[in-house]
Amino acid sequence: MVGKEGVMIGLECHVQLNTDSKLFCGCPTKAGDPNTACCPICLGHPGSKPVLNAKALDYTMKVALAFNCEINQQFFFSRKTYFYPDMSKNFQITQYEIPVGLKGYIVLSSGKKIGITRVHLEEDPAALVHTSGMGSSNFSLVDYNRSGIPLVEIVTDPDFESPGEAREFLEQLTTILAYLKVFSPTTGTLKADCNVSVYGNNRVEVKNVTGKKAVEKALSFEIARQKNMLLNEKEIVMETRAFDETTFTTKASRSKETEADYGYIFEPDLTAFRISREEIEGMKKALPELHSAKSKRFVEEFGLDEYTSNVLANNFSLGNIFEEVANCKQKRA
Ligand SMILES: [Zn+2]
Repeated sequence: MVGKEGVMIGLECHVQLNTDSKLFCGCPTKAGDPNTACCPICLGHPGSKPVLNAKALDYTMKVALAFNCEINQQFFFSRKTYFYPDMSKNFQITQYEIPVGLKGYIVLSSGKKIGITRVHLEEDPAALVHTSGMGSSNFSLVDYNRSGIPLVEIVTDPDFESPGEAREFLEQLTTILAYLKVFSPTTGTLKADCNVSVYGNNRVEVKNVTGKKAVEKALSFEIARQKNMLLNEKEIVMETRAFDETTFTTKASRSKETEADYGYIFEPDLTAFRISREEIEGMKKALPELHSAKSKRFVEEFGLDEYTSNVLANNFSLGNIFEEVANCKQKRA
């Protein structure tokens, strides 16, 4: 939806799930020295066979349900083919055709509904460490400890009309993750790819932006840059850009691939997964009370005003502390 400012934004959020082991092997997700937590499976040696981490799937379903998604009763994994040093097997195991969850939504404080296109599970690639200033040779190091850590990807519809709305979505996302206890804000990462276009022109993707403030700043810069280009009668090219956290600007990184370039194929080493309607309903019932329900309850139970109850419920720890203190006070009274 193009808003009155002519801006259309969609987010693809990647969240590291806080499981003890990786998505398809038994390697630990937390390790010290580089390349000490990897095995033939997460490195993709020929003949190695992935086995799905049940906890990672359980966490992904919880996230999908918290975002009001429909859960597919049957889904499978695919290989996304690409060539880059962070992926030793030249394909990433992800979900493409049938993800875990589809067609969800979340409501912003303004009452505006943001559509969730899909929620799926995939593996993280290795980490690249770029060195500089070491003599005349600049080079990159690869750390495969990150290779195969489970990521849940939450893709929104292009429903945001301002950087502020995108920021509020990320605030709600981090709150939901805290309630579900599926993400560690101290050791895990939350990154967003920001898709933005103005006045129906070509879409630009700003990749791997870390943090809510950075997303807001990256989008603000990108909207100003694109509008400025149009004012100067320049064409906006469809491309991928990188965000510079020191200058709050974006710069072109590579021309954007289309989905067809990835040549998705069915992952033959994993079977299709099935889940019954009863199991999905059981998971729905077992979801913890989330921030929006808690906020309403605080108003009814403790007579708080809407603003205060929202502030408390949107901070998982603060909400819990408040409730404990308020209950103690009620018991004494
Ligand atoms: Zn491994």
